Formats: sequence, C-alpha cells, structure tokens
Amino acid sequence: MGETLYLDANASEPLRPAAREAVIAGLDLVGNPASIHAAGRAARGRIEAARAVIAAHCGARAQDVVLLSGATEANALALSGLGGARAVLIGATEHEAVRAAAPGAGIVPVGRDGVIDLDALDRLLAGDSDALVCVMAANNETGVINPVEAVAAVCARHGALLHVDAVQAVGRGLADFLRLGAASVAISAHKIGGPKGIGALVLTPEAAGGLVPMLRGGGQERGRRGGTPNVPAILGFAAAIAAIDPGEIGRLAAMRDAIEAAAVAESAIVVGGGALRLGNTSCLALPGVSAETQLIALDLDQICVSAGAACSSGKMARSHVIDAMGWPELAGCAIRVSLPWNAPDDAAERFIAAYRRMADRALRKRQGFSTSPASRPLGAELV
Ligand code: PLP
Repeated sequence: MGETLYLDANASEPLRPAAREAVIAGLDLVGNPASIHAAGRAARGRIEAARAVIAAHCGARAQDVVLLSGATEANALALSGLGGARAVLIGATEHEAVRAAAPGAGIVPVGRDGVIDLDALDRLLAGDSDALVCVMAANNETGVINPVEAVAAVCARHGALLHVDAVQAVGRGLADFLRLGAASVAISAHKIGGPKGIGALVLTPEAAGGLVPMLRGGGQERGRRGGTPNVPAILGFAAAIAAIDPGEIGRLAAMRDAIEAAAVAESAIVVGGGALRLGNTSCLALPGVSAETQLIALDLDQICVSAGAACSSGKMARSHVIDAMGWPELAGCAIRVSLPWNAPDDAAERFIAAYRRMADRALRKRQGFSTSPASRPLGAELV
C-alpha cells in the first residue's frame, strides 16, 4: 500500500512547516495580549507583527485587519457589520458561509461557465444607491475566478459596497482586492497552509470606520471583535502567508491540466472548464456515476478528494454551485480535485491511474453504456 494522496486543498491546505513552528512557539507566550505587564506586551508585540504581515499581503493598513476565527466569521461580520440597513446581494455560487449569513439577500446569477453575470448585477443594482454586494474571488468547488475589478466597477457606479470572499484566492496567484475596489476581504489561514480556526476581515480605512461589531466583549481588535486573541494561531497565520511561494501555483496547474486531459479521455466533463480558474482546482463530472461512488472508489485507492464543498455533517449534499451554473444533471456526479501546495511530483500520475480504474469500473457497470467518446452522454465542450 502506498501513502495516502491528499488532493483536497480547497477544504484545508496541509500546514506549512514555518506555520507549525510559529504555532508551537506561540503556545509558550503566556501573557494575555491585553495585559499591560511585560508578558502581555510580549504577546501583543508578536500579534502586531503578525497583523502587519497579513495587512501587507492584502495591501491594507495593519489597523484595518480584524483577526477572528476564520472566514465563516469574517463573511458574517462583513455582511452584518457593513450590511446594516443596506440591501444585500450575493453571488449564486457563494459558499454556505455567505449564504447562511445573508438569508434574505438577492441573488446575482452566474453564467454557464460559473462567472458572475455583470449585466445582471448592473440591473439588480439599478435604483439602489446604498447596497452591499458579496462576490467570491474564486469558487471553492470549481476554481472559477470572478472578475473582481469589473464587479467593483459596477458596484462603484451604483454607490454599492463590495465585500470579497477571497478564501480560495490567497496564495494562488490572486491578490490586491482592496486596490481593485473591494471595501472588505475575508481570508482564512487554513486555506493557505496555516492553522485552522483563524482568519481575518481586511478592510479599507473607510469601511473599517463604519464596521459594526458582532462580538463586543472586552473591546479587543479596536472594539471590532471582542475575545482574547488566539496568539499561536495568529502567529501561524502570518508565517503561512510569509511562506507562500508565488511559483507554487504554476507547478500545480501543470499537474491539474494533466489530470483534466486524462479525465476527459474517460468521458469526464470539466465543470467551469471554459472560464479562468485557480490552477490547483478541477471539478470533474462523470455523467451517470454518483459523486459518492467516485469518492468511495478513490478513497479505497488512498486518494482524498471531495464532492463540492466539505460538509460538516460528513454527508454529501448536492452542489448548489453546479445547479446555479445551469448543469443540474451534473450536480450529483462531480468531484473536486484540489492540489495542495506540497503535492508530490507523482500526484497527477497516481490520481490518473486511480481515476481510470474507477471510471472504467463504474462505466462498465452501467447497462448499455459504452465508454467510447462517440457515445458520451454529454459533450466535454459543455462547460
Ligand atoms: N468561503 C469559502 C469560499 C470557503 O471555501 C470556505 C471554507 O471552505 C469558507 C468561506 C469558510 O472558511 P473557514 O473554514 O475559515 O470558516
């Protein structure tokens, strides 16, 4: 038996060695950062240095970075704390963290390729001069990238604020969302090789000034988020950001492209394949073969992938993302392959061998179905 091959980076990236070291060192910082004595000041100094690293990566001022428990909280804080009396619009393929935090929001549709529909956004904003729009930089299931600058321009035309869920974009070749016109950005450490349970809402000075807190507590984070800071996690978060190698994503993209070429030869369809996508992510639909069947077969081959978003119940939910893209027939039969920063060089080779075994077995089982390309139930040109 070989080693387990972990290809579920979009659920959680493996911890980077520098982040591990920083977390471990942080565990020994005994002081509460709010205390005025030397131990408190030592912890506070380390947090402020970490905040500066996170801020610099996002093109923000350090004082406009609110450290909190992760992107679920960051999105919720943006939607409630900037939303206020504003009308809220969210993209149709947003993560559950956004959907659940804005239950009454208007929905901005996406095209068949998964990219936000700018004309629809323009129409939805017409007549509203004070809305809050939330659009993700890149989708967690398909890797489809949204044109944040163009979205921000539409928002600006209508006087709307833009919040960007940048969780999947950080460290993967996309950045600078505040400079592109966003008012706030949600990021999460465990999606970039940092520890779980820590993230940030990063704001422009204007947006930071108007943010209404959800948790007040002891007034930490300049009164924007109460609660004793998680010192080791914050240090690990900054260390993970500092350890990002800009060349990483190109190496992963080459492997991802090889995986997709092999999967398409097995009758798979690349969901969102026509759009600009994250280099590490592939959403592969195998028509007629349930995602669950695929995951189990790959798991038996010691390959960890997922079906859409990781679900806390461990159950598999139908993908609202693929449904929103207008491919309901594919929503139950798509898996997500997301290569982590430390994917081994033979990751594509191993995945392809296992995928072929799985696809051949599953497709042979289907009565009257031939695996020849001529009889594919849906064409690979669809998405
Ligand atoms: N937004 C997106 C796009 C995500 O992929 C995730 C995690 O899966 C989240 C938000 C939530 O992040 P966290 O796990 O830090 O709460």
